[in-house]
Amino acid sequence: MKLSRLASEIAESPTLALNEEARLLKARGEAVINLGIGEPKNKTPISAMLAAGATLSSGEIKYTPPDGLPSMKKAVIRYTEEAYNRVVAPENVIITNGAKQSLFNIFYSILNPQDEVIVLAPYWVSYPEMIRMCMGVPVVVTPENGTFTPRFEDIERAVTSSTRAIIVNSPNNPSGAIYSDDLVAAIVSLCEKRGIFMICDDIYHKLTFDRNVARPAYTFTRQDVDSSHVIVVNGVAKLYGMTGFRIGWVVAPRVLIKVMSNVIAQTTSCVSPIAQAAAEGALNGLQSVVEALRLQIQNNRDVLLQEMRAFSGARLIEPKGTFYALPDLRAFNNNSVEVSRLLLKKAMVVTVPGKEFGTEGHIRLSFAGSTKDLTEGIARIKWALDPTSPNEIYIGDKKMIRDWL
Ligand code: PMP
Repeated sequence: MKLSRLASEIAESPTLALNEEARLLKARGEAVINLGIGEPKNKTPISAMLAAGATLSSGEIKYTPPDGLPSMKKAVIRYTEEAYNRVVAPENVIITNGAKQSLFNIFYSILNPQDEVIVLAPYWVSYPEMIRMCMGVPVVVTPENGTFTPRFEDIERAVTSSTRAIIVNSPNNPSGAIYSDDLVAAIVSLCEKRGIFMICDDIYHKLTFDRNVARPAYTFTRQDVDSSHVIVVNGVAKLYGMTGFRIGWVVAPRVLIKVMSNVIAQTTSCVSPIAQAAAEGALNGLQSVVEALRLQIQNNRDVLLQEMRAFSGARLIEPKGTFYALPDLRAFNNNSVEVSRLLLKKAMVVTVPGKEFGTEGHIRLSFAGSTKDLTEGIARIKWALDPTSPNEIYIGDKKMIRDWL
């Protein structure tokens, strides 16, 4: 059967694939712990449920405008004013089916074949694949060994006449790093000087720990939203733990929003009004839910740090935001795919190999779930990798034997 070469070459999403594997093992009754997926455990905020319920009971569930419901856009405009100190017009906003669709549509709308997008390692797995799907070329800039933030000089050196954008994700999935104000300011100024877009994937921007702040790129430009090269992507998935509602949005120059709106109109038409009502409910509702989620995740981060301190050989740079940690396990094995496979098979813990994020030798652990799972998961990882561990343990009533080292 002949299929598209481009589509066939797109890699499976490793996090979703691992999640499915974990689900199947769990369905078989195995005591699997999922430290793979980035999904908070909280219930949907009540204001979101009520708003979605009201829309549903109205019975008026019809197509919505391709760029989003005016009331949802209004909620995003208010959010942008509060969180970014920027007043934007409805024409600067588009609502999408998750931040994933926002990103894909941005790449589709700004790239011509062979155009380059600079991706900063460690990077979220989907960026390179999405760029390739839009006929572009991902150009990866890697940080120096032992750090998770690329040097500005290396980013600047990667810019060519084919570069159309630099994508910045801070707080960063998978490392939890937050880029310094100086670095963000330097990237804004580089993008303005070279006339390229700075795509800010801000999906974790409020999930920061202690007193750390991920300063928005807008802080470092005097230009208004329409003349600036800054594009902001955000959504409700991580902020409110509303992953299943599939709502994201983009704030960008109106010329780009217009093109993106046509792309949506000709592909998915629009976003479901029920999901938009839910997102609107979350944005307009009590914001203490975001702080409650942040505190719970910060607590998990502290538990993780404590557990990792007692894990000799594993090196961890403290996550400053998000709900991911990226320990360096090269002391045990350089091949992260092998490590992740071993951990799933022998210790029944789901992790994501760092190779997928451009950081071989590391594994990504999500601490978005329960504290109990996190503690137990790390204990199992230590058991599986540390040669001084006992040879046998019980996971539930299943005897696990260390027969691979
Ligand atoms: N960007 C990053 C960095 C992410 O981690 C994710 C979700 N894992 C997304 C975008 C996509 O978010 P959504 O669920 O809204 O599509």
